[in-house]
Amino acid sequence: MAKRDYYDVLGVSRSATLDEIKSAYRKLAMQYHPDRNPGNKEAEEKFKEITEAYEVLSDEEKRRRYDQFGHAGMRAGQDFHQYTSMDDIFSAFGDIFGGSLFEELFGGGRRRSAQRSPRPQGERGADLHIRLPLSLEEIANGTEKTLKVKRYLPCSTCSGTGSRSGTGGYATCPTCNGSGQISQVSRSMFGQFVNITTCPTCSGTGTILRDPCPTCNGEGRTMGEDTVRVAIPAGIYEGMEFRLRGKGHAGRRGGPPGDLIVEIEEKEHPYFRRDGNDVVYNLVISFPDAVLGGEVEVPTLDGTALLTIKPGTQPGTVLRMRGKGLPVYNSTERGDQLVVVNVYVPTKVNGHERDLLRQLAESENIAPKKRRKENKDTGFFGKFRSSFSF
Ligand SMILES: [Zn+2]
Ligand SMILES: [Zn+2]
Repeated sequence: MAKRDYYDVLGVSRSATLDEIKSAYRKLAMQYHPDRNPGNKEAEEKFKEITEAYEVLSDEEKRRRYDQFGHAGMRAGQDFHQYTSMDDIFSAFGDIFGGSLFEELFGGGRRRSAQRSPRPQGERGADLHIRLPLSLEEIANGTEKTLKVKRYLPCSTCSGTGSRSGTGGYATCPTCNGSGQISQVSRSMFGQFVNITTCPTCSGTGTILRDPCPTCNGEGRTMGEDTVRVAIPAGIYEGMEFRLRGKGHAGRRGGPPGDLIVEIEEKEHPYFRRDGNDVVYNLVISFPDAVLGGEVEVPTLDGTALLTIKPGTQPGTVLRMRGKGLPVYNSTERGDQLVVVNVYVPTKVNGHERDLLRQLAESENIAPKKRRKENKDTGFFGKFRSSFSF
């Protein structure tokens, strides 16, 4: 991968002063601090990159050479460290910055000093759970939604650190001496009990802020509204869950954020019923259409389509429209649309219609053929029945 320009990496101009470079680095280092992003490879890479850039640009001689020759003028190992791991960075840090910036940044010497002073203890934010109602049409085509989510966001005043100065001024909690717990001994006639509770001063973190941010009271987060875009693939179903990493509540005191879990809810459709990947539609046709056949318009998930009704179609007939159902999730296949045919029986007729129907009723093909089936019966039941007839 091509090395990025050091000025771009720190987001400063080429004429930036040393103080500007320092402050840009401090801000980025707070953001990508490994303690704030445990297990986050991307943050770790970012942290290595900004540290390398800072190392060069904060040194007058190295910076001049970089300005003149770019990355080609830099010698790895002499002009900058090539970090391979976080431990590498931490062991090199003290040497590069003489310890002071390190202390300032992270509130104490980690791994290189014997007197371990407390460091920020970020608490992971909680997961958020929301239900997302979708129509069958949206499920058929897949959709993208912008969700309004009320959630904890990193405090903008202190960049989520919880500290007013943003430099991580943490001290050991005096109430619990950093253990985060308090044990109270109580005596009763049964003996001595030790009751262990979470320290109320530090809420169990073991550290307190020397200068809590006034906006968030040292929480490092404030309740706010956020918009989250989520792409929903086609063919999903009720109860399916999508996990959006890091889109839940922001962590306490710069802890990692929780996830946003989006659960799919299928809205009831005004005339379709879902059956797996098939879609069932109840079609009501007129008596003449059922007898004579014809073409009728039926709605589908992709708009209306013409459906051919054969002459003599019986109520209860199921017609299959291939490929007009729902897409199968994670596949190119599609279900069908099943059309259940019903025949409309009018509940109101006028005098003229009544006359016509009466006339029709006397016609030879209109009445149900009661006996025809029995006469033709040659199957098992037919034989069975005839053997018992008398
Ligand atoms: Zn405490
Ligand atoms: Zn704050």
